[in-house]
Amino acid sequence: MLKRVLIANRGEIALRVIRACRELDIETVAIYSTADESALHAQIATRSLCVGPARAADSYLNQDAILSAALATGCDAIHPGYGFLSENPDFADRCVEAGLKYIGPSGDVIRKMGSKAAARTLAQQAGVPVVPGSDGPLRDVEQAKELAAQVGYPVLLKASAGGGGRGMRQVDGPEGLESAFHAAQAEAIACFGDGEMYLEKLVLSPRHIEFQIMADSQGHVVHLGERDCSIQRRRQKLIEESPSRALTPQLREEMGRAAVAAAKAAGYVGAGTVEFVLSPQGQFYFIEMNTRIQVEHPVTELVTGVDLVKEQLRVAAGLPLSFTQEDIHVSGHAIECRINAEDPEHDFRPCPGKTEFLHLPGGPGVRVDTALYPGYEVSPFYDSLVAKVLVHAPTRLEAIRRMRRSLEELVIEGYPTNSALAHLIMHDGEFVRGQYDTSFLDKNLPRLLELARTCDTLTAE
Ligand code: ADP
Ligand code: ADP
Ligand code: MG
Repeated sequence: MLKRVLIANRGEIALRVIRACRELDIETVAIYSTADESALHAQIATRSLCVGPARAADSYLNQDAILSAALATGCDAIHPGYGFLSENPDFADRCVEAGLKYIGPSGDVIRKMGSKAAARTLAQQAGVPVVPGSDGPLRDVEQAKELAAQVGYPVLLKASAGGGGRGMRQVDGPEGLESAFHAAQAEAIACFGDGEMYLEKLVLSPRHIEFQIMADSQGHVVHLGERDCSIQRRRQKLIEESPSRALTPQLREEMGRAAVAAAKAAGYVGAGTVEFVLSPQGQFYFIEMNTRIQVEHPVTELVTGVDLVKEQLRVAAGLPLSFTQEDIHVSGHAIECRINAEDPEHDFRPCPGKTEFLHLPGGPGVRVDTALYPGYEVSPFYDSLVAKVLVHAPTRLEAIRRMRRSLEELVIEGYPTNSALAHLIMHDGEFVRGQYDTSFLDKNLPRLLELARTCDTLTAE
């Protein structure tokens, strides 16, 4: 097994990895920026080292400093978490060149799947359906126009390097195409330093359904069922659940098989997620693969009983998966609400601040992944996710009721959060019936915010 792991991340995911390591008797080295001196991850690791100033580019993205820290402390592996360097193929290569194990797939695999245009082609070759659109990257606006006319509007222009819903524009007709192309490309260059674009037909009223994959270096690839992540704001996930109400057992098996085929075609090793959109008619299409552990991975852990991070550590150490496809059974229902330090009343702008008071929910079937503690100052430099509230119960309705009472127990004072909004969604008729698609939140937000105002439940300061 591994002896000492450096965690190249911060926040709740750094804690999550440290906890898995501790249970496996693996020592941990945390890195932190000067803004994170009092952050929890830096305090609970076996050792911690400062790797640079607050700006992520100078610390959590500073490859030289992170690699030196790992070597200086005698680590044998690096866990990248999510975000930051987790999908950077050059960093994965550099770890290996420095004699360290990278806890994730190889640089080559990340490269193949990291370009979303290339991943589309790879999925197609593996016989996995993709949304009608461009074969590989677009040459220019003219080609985009021709293709859009062929597949039919509305279309989505997407950046090959995109993520977090950025570098993406919906185009409803030919007149909007040129300006959307340039806007999306400029955003992609600014965010990802890469302006390569591709095009997909917009699937109307889809569900976002993703499959969790685990693969070992012996060639075993297993899927751990799906997560329905259709509750999104501006194409970013807010609430996730498993199993999905939209899948029949037959569709689940078909999509699971497609996800495994895509992972096999890439030569995948480690934890990964294959994302699909599912049309109301039951057609599913591959959209991308995330080559890392995801924010919403605990949803799958709750319904399968598998510890995905421990499994990542096993696989990185060269051990085989501790289960086969036949061992995976989904039991009960799990839901996750992402709690962000942001103000729903002001276009969800991030609102960092000092945690003046904190009370976390508990009791049967509740799991909270957070790096908060009373007095902790949420930093403006990083992501606004402050807690993930998860519940597990025998049925979906019981899970919803458990989530309602968990969000009622949750108290975070000092800055606004989206917790009251999540609570209202747990009471919404469409959500409770399970009849929702990715347009749910953008469509219902004005009504939900108005409701929140009248109920006076919004946590405005
Ligand atoms: P996706 O939405 O692409 O499937 P996930 O939902 O799993 O991906 O998470 C990626 C998101 O997590 C990114 O959009 C980013 O804003 C956020 N993120 C990245 N790094 C961190 C971090 N260290 N702490 C909290 N959030 C992060
Ligand atoms: P990101 O890398 O930002 O996560 P994705 O390609 O996964 O980008 O798309 C983000 C979200 O946009 C999806 O979860 C889905 O809701 C929506 N989406 C993506 N592609 C399509 C499509 N072809 N049709 C309809 N919705 C889509
Ligand atoms: Mg995605």
